[in-house]
Amino acid sequence: MKAFVKTGYRPGEAGIEDVSIGDPGPGEVLLRVASCGICGSDLHAFRADAGFEWVLPPITLGHEFSGTVEIVGPDVTRVSVGDRAVVVAIQGCGKCDACRSGSTQLCPNRVAVGLSRDGGMAEYAVMPEEHLVPVPDGLDLTVAALGEPLSVAVHAVNVRADVKSGQTVVVSGPGPIGVLCGMLARLRGAEVLLAGVGQDSKSRLPAAEGAGLRTANLSEKPLEEHLRENFEESAPDVWIESSGSVRALGSALESVRPGGTVAVVGLYAENMVFAPTLAVRRELSLLFSYSCNYADYQTALELLGSGAIDPGPLLSRYPLVDAPEAFEAVGEGRAVKALLVP
Ligand SMILES: [Zn+2]
Ligand SMILES: [Zn+2]
Repeated sequence: MKAFVKTGYRPGEAGIEDVSIGDPGPGEVLLRVASCGICGSDLHAFRADAGFEWVLPPITLGHEFSGTVEIVGPDVTRVSVGDRAVVVAIQGCGKCDACRSGSTQLCPNRVAVGLSRDGGMAEYAVMPEEHLVPVPDGLDLTVAALGEPLSVAVHAVNVRADVKSGQTVVVSGPGPIGVLCGMLARLRGAEVLLAGVGQDSKSRLPAAEGAGLRTANLSEKPLEEHLRENFEESAPDVWIESSGSVRALGSALESVRPGGTVAVVGLYAENMVFAPTLAVRRELSLLFSYSCNYADYQTALELLGSGAIDPGPLLSRYPLVDAPEAFEAVGEGRAVKALLVP
């Protein structure tokens, strides 16, 4: 079968390869992949960026994917041939305290699909049945691959920040996670402003506007002006930081109202200087959100299935064999969320 494989340690050392289709072992199934999204972490692994040295080639990339069960291995009890599913991207051991409490994404022995085990940028993938989430009837299976990034946003907005109706919410970083966070906060009845910078004006901010969100381009005028125009005199109740820029996180801590919440879902290449006293005197809640768990996937797939969240404006589809071109488009900011379709 064809697969997009990171073949070496050098930046960009990856390509479409002919690899053999795996055999499902006990508790595993063979999935025929319907589509696989390209994530920022795939781009980091592809470019061999700092912090991704642990991704060992050869490995088939991709963790945002959906598919149909084609073969079931021995001892498979939960799924059958023909079932449609999305794969949990960070797979816990199922036995430790973190896993038993439902926080599989915090498992010390977690497996990162497409980074530490072969992933979904391929025609087929072998996956443990316990990490498959059923896709609702009627939901386009290629769109269901968005269940992964939407679950990450569900964990940040619905579970960790617990955004409520009537709140004012700023989301910084209009990548797919940021836009989906904005869409979720709006769905919960919040007033949302999605903030980006100049480089986001190519495709990300227009896509967010296409999805019905109000946006702020911080390269055009200062944050304060955008806040005044959108929220009048009141400072935001909640700020969700998904850009991974320490500058944006600094703005978040300065800008939320006293008693407000800053929820961090981005990953940062730099450290930051942080003045805790200012946060203490304003009694801020600073919290962090990492990936997602099985329940978040179920919520995300329900939202996609019911049409409450329509990720259409974010998507561009590429044939799997054009993966190198799709990676380039994502890297240059021409595509917001590229889906590879085998
Ligand atoms: Zn992802
Ligand atoms: Zn575990």
